[in-house]
Amino acid sequence: MFRNIPVIALEEHYWDKELATELAGAEGIRGDSLLKRLYDIGELRLQEMDEVGIDVQVLSHGAPSAQKLRPEIAVDMTRRVNDRLAEACARHPTRFAGFACLPTAHPEAAARELERAVKQLGMKGAMIHGLTNGVFHDDQKFWCIYETAEKLDVPVYFHPAWPHPDVEKAYYEPYGKDFPQVVRAAWGYTVETATQAIRLILSRLFEKHPNFKVILGHFGETLPYQLWRIDQALRRPGHDIMDFRGHFTRNFHVTTSGHFSTPALVASMMEMGMDHIMFSVDWPFVSNKPGMKWVETLQISNEDMTKFLSGNAKKILKL
Ligand code: MN
Repeated sequence: MFRNIPVIALEEHYWDKELATELAGAEGIRGDSLLKRLYDIGELRLQEMDEVGIDVQVLSHGAPSAQKLRPEIAVDMTRRVNDRLAEACARHPTRFAGFACLPTAHPEAAARELERAVKQLGMKGAMIHGLTNGVFHDDQKFWCIYETAEKLDVPVYFHPAWPHPDVEKAYYEPYGKDFPQVVRAAWGYTVETATQAIRLILSRLFEKHPNFKVILGHFGETLPYQLWRIDQALRRPGHDIMDFRGHFTRNFHVTTSGHFSTPALVASMMEMGMDHIMFSVDWPFVSNKPGMKWVETLQISNEDMTKFLSGNAKKILKL
């Protein structure tokens, strides 16, 4: 709790042994202390939540989750991973909730797994990481997933993963060697995930599915800051009619995962309003303490603080 307000953190990761073993090395080297935390859905995690007053973590698998699984094993494995996540949440039902992983290599199966995960396992939505075999998720073959999410009234959280190898080479060499995070959290993740979000809107997905809800981490991957320019440029002569601002501010929600910046909060509040902003840490890649220390500094009303720390999450995830 923070000043009697419950605190829900939305983008908090774990690793499933079977899935992470299958993907070993896919997302780079992990230190021991990180590994220990990723594999803990109990004592250590709860202790670090209690130390700062985080009441609930919504758990999701770390990147690239199921999006880089071999298609021939993805469907069966994601079922097992989601079953195990549901069991872990059930052991601490007041402290943990979950976002399902989806076998997006098989979109129809992914839509069915989303339905099963929500209806039978009590998941609060799904998280999709990066691209599926090099394809952005605005491709119409994935729309069955969003149709199901809209029908179930659950969000899909679009999370970064290691960028496409061609992009890594063209955009970030030779700097990735001395500054490995430039390909990842420092910039590469942002570019790819913001591009994913822009493409979802350009595809006109939200015209067909106006109630489909998307969540972006990292304060919307720069999009609240860029919104005016994107919207204005897309309205210049020679363009089809596109209400980019309308879709972004209605269908998208952003979280503060790994981005505890007051200027970023102000930009997001001004462009999207407080109903669309939710607290998140990105544990264990980022620690809980700086997140909650930053919250203490925010000069916002009690009403906005309540929406931000848990009110919006309760509503959107039906917690
Ligand atoms: Mn994350």
